[in-house]
Amino acid sequence: MGADTPALSNDVLDSTQRVIHEALTRLGYSEEYYELLKEPMRLLTVRIPVRMDDGQLRVFTGYRAQHNDAVGPTKGGIRFHPSVTAEEVSALSIWMTLKCGIFDLPYGGGKGGIICDPRTMSLGEVERLARGYVRAISQIVGPNKDIPAPDVYTNAQIMAWMLDEYSILRENDSPGFITGKPIVLGGSRGRERATSLGVAIAIREAAALQGMSLQGLKVCVQGFGNVGSHLASILNEWGALVVGISDVHGGIYDEQGLNIPELLDRRDSFGSVTSLFDNRLSNDEFLTLPCDVLVPAALENQLTLDNVADIRAKMIVEAANGPTTIEASEKLHERGVLVIPDVLANAGGVTVSYFEWVQNNQGYYWPEEEVNEKLEKKMVEAVHKVMDMAQSRNITPRLAAYMVGVKKFAEASRLRGWV
Ligand code: GLU
Repeated sequence: MGADTPALSNDVLDSTQRVIHEALTRLGYSEEYYELLKEPMRLLTVRIPVRMDDGQLRVFTGYRAQHNDAVGPTKGGIRFHPSVTAEEVSALSIWMTLKCGIFDLPYGGGKGGIICDPRTMSLGEVERLARGYVRAISQIVGPNKDIPAPDVYTNAQIMAWMLDEYSILRENDSPGFITGKPIVLGGSRGRERATSLGVAIAIREAAALQGMSLQGLKVCVQGFGNVGSHLASILNEWGALVVGISDVHGGIYDEQGLNIPELLDRRDSFGSVTSLFDNRLSNDEFLTLPCDVLVPAALENQLTLDNVADIRAKMIVEAANGPTTIEASEKLHERGVLVIPDVLANAGGVTVSYFEWVQNNQGYYWPEEEVNEKLEKKMVEAVHKVMDMAQSRNITPRLAAYMVGVKKFAEASRLRGWV
């Protein structure tokens, strides 16, 4: 399951809207386009009754947001987390639109969430909740309408239960209804590592643009969950020096590079490893370590106006969604620190979800090398498209990513006669 994530403040929707507004204005679109694109076109709230193991009934609240379907069906993950809100799900659906736009995937953005804490629930309770959510949203989802996937605290097993429930409701087998499935149920090879492989490619390409090589590049990875641990392992294989990693118990650092294979082996059943070390760093100390690249791969709202002045990395690559506030990211840009935004850096996940859906639709499955090659091509293209835009207009990579991402939706909405 994904890393722990504190509440995104509601400012997240406000700041996303500010950047969308600026992107549309710079692209020459009128206020009408902003009116259309500033919020999801559809936001469904559902109440899901679940009989808990102790016999009590609990009714959970869930959401599904569909930002814009002018280009094609909407797409995006479902998170299970106590701090899910309608605003958060809405902002995350807009970010999914941007990812699909930047990577030229034939989708708009969607996102779902249920207010719950799966760490305190039994597997049976999680299964009943997952199935209840699918029944509650079934009218608005489907392989050609809106295609869910995993997100924070959801995984391939939960996708499998959701697929099963959907197949029962529809009385047919529809593997393309959901992505991030186990491979035996039509999941794609390479999907599990896809976000990390994409982040690693983004680091390699962005470093090269800065005149730095991946060989010996000093990287700190905050978070050792699915994304952070696969990323540390790929970077280590590619010759970078992973000098710091952290998890819920703290951070560890070695200027000469950590022994990543050994750390991966020594993880406990919750995936954490730093508790084995005495001299652990606090989260704040970890974020301000000297390194070439800092990769926040766990939590949202990590780099803020409170700590941004102390950041010593030359480059930030956002593997998590929303780890840097917009204000902190602007301050870093003023100081010459390159911030590769989440909607660019972590979209390897949705890109391979798209490959999974294509394979489901054609019923023909690709070897992992083919998936990785196609991902490599998409990532390299996307990084260069965004960085070229940032350079030629002298703007932040985040604003450039929003401009590249939103354009297709403004055009498609105009052509459909919505604006
Ligand atoms: N939840 C992931 C994201 O935020 C993946 C979404 C997908 O695969 O559709 O990008």
